[in-house]
Amino acid sequence: MAELISLDGLKGPSSSKAMRAELGKDGCAAGACGAPGGAGAMPAEIWEKVKDHPCYAEEAHRYFARMHVAVAPACNMQCHYCNRKFDCANESRPGVVSERLRPEEAARKVVAVANAVPQLSVLGIAGPGDACYDWARTKATFEAVREAIPDLTLCLSTNGLALPERVEEIAALGIDHVTITINMIEPEVGARIYPWIFHQHRRWEGVEASRILHERQMLGLRMLVERSVLVKVNSVMIPGVNDAHLLEVGAAMKEAGAFLHNVMPLISDPAHGTHFGLTGQRGPRPMELKALQDRLGEGARLMRHCRQCRADAVGILGEDRGQEFTLGKLPDEAAYDPAGRAEYREVVVRERGELAVSRRKAEAQLRRIEAAPSRLVAVASRGGGRINQHFGHATEFLVFEVSAKGVGFVGARRVESYCKGGFGEAEALEGAIAALEGVAVVLVAKIGEAPKKKLAAAGITASEAHAYEWIEAGIAGWYAAAFTTTSETGRSTLKAG
Ligand code: SF4
Ligand code: SF4
Repeated sequence: MAELISLDGLKGPSSSKAMRAELGKDGCAAGACGAPGGAGAMPAEIWEKVKDHPCYAEEAHRYFARMHVAVAPACNMQCHYCNRKFDCANESRPGVVSERLRPEEAARKVVAVANAVPQLSVLGIAGPGDACYDWARTKATFEAVREAIPDLTLCLSTNGLALPERVEEIAALGIDHVTITINMIEPEVGARIYPWIFHQHRRWEGVEASRILHERQMLGLRMLVERSVLVKVNSVMIPGVNDAHLLEVGAAMKEAGAFLHNVMPLISDPAHGTHFGLTGQRGPRPMELKALQDRLGEGARLMRHCRQCRADAVGILGEDRGQEFTLGKLPDEAAYDPAGRAEYREVVVRERGELAVSRRKAEAQLRRIEAAPSRLVAVASRGGGRINQHFGHATEFLVFEVSAKGVGFVGARRVESYCKGGFGEAEALEGAIAALEGVAVVLVAKIGEAPKKKLAAAGITASEAHAYEWIEAGIAGWYAAAFTTTSETGRSTLKAG
């Protein structure tokens, strides 16, 4: 699970032209995930809160960056999928960090990143422990950053156990996005995920531990909602443990007022040293995750673009520039310069306008199709909403579902890049084919004959025909050309399935 999308950061204030060029290189796919529907689908004050948040808004994740600072190492419980001792600069998954920071170091890092990465809109504290349990460090960091960069959106992630006693301070600090990881509402299910918790100065185990955790999570969630803090619920999908149960979890979260539900696949590998990894508990396959998300998505806001970031991630979702901003590389002292971020936002407003036009055209093209089986389409993109990456360079594929109803984002599937130093690696290609499960076609800027043939043998077409087009336009164009013929009525009918 290596770094995903490469991005050359903007170095301080730059021209709009340079920023527009940079936009074309960065970010991730057209956002049809997160809060769906955009500005018209929610009250204006909510849209104002989420429109530039890469995790909460439908399309913001292609334009805006987040950073996590690893200031909160202590945790008050144990999850069977977590081993915080594991540390690898190339490993992208929650809880993993290369460097733990003191609050003053974290504030210095945030200023350095804000000066160098104008896409930055969000600062989050997401471990490697629990932000609410390790509250003194979390609070000191947020206070220092708020003073240095007042307009940065502040976020935290928590297991919820120590959340209720922090809610008042969270609201007072102006933290209006909180993520709670909730994997169950039935303590019997929780007992298979959490071996123990530490609460009220003692250790609890088994079903009782999960009962306490559940009550604290729901209490904290309701308290936040009462204070108009937006709550995202993360759930880890663990096949055979809580996968079916997550439908009940989703319904309960919606009823309690959570803004967004994010179901993430269990990452399980013996090398990570987690209980689940060592005992052979598998994670879900891509199509299992999609099937669950599809069922959960009926009538609820669902996040589908989560990249399961490191606790010290920096950059647009899907990339990690953390290694550029390690403590040793930070300036001893630097004042925040707001010019770069302000100028970048103006560029984004224009880009969003162009994207909206492109989407409307794609929708109109699809509406002319009469018979319309849905298909999954994967896209290789370096960002900017375009099909602009070579197959062999991709470290993730963006998967969309297309039908006459439109193009919808399904999720990002991580892969190891196939091309290594100019040579193709067979093992990486096998991994990519497995990751593309269920996909009919992969749209790329370029692909070699050898991987193209291998993909074809696995039933996946690879096409360069829509290279450098907007993603939705390219997908609609492929769908119309591959599956329809124009009838006498001027509408299209199914040609092939
Ligand atoms: S709550 Fe977070 S930091 Fe604590 S054990 Fe679970 S995953 Fe790890
Ligand atoms: S882990 Fe998911 S929700 Fe958290 S910052 Fe990364 S993409 Fe956003």
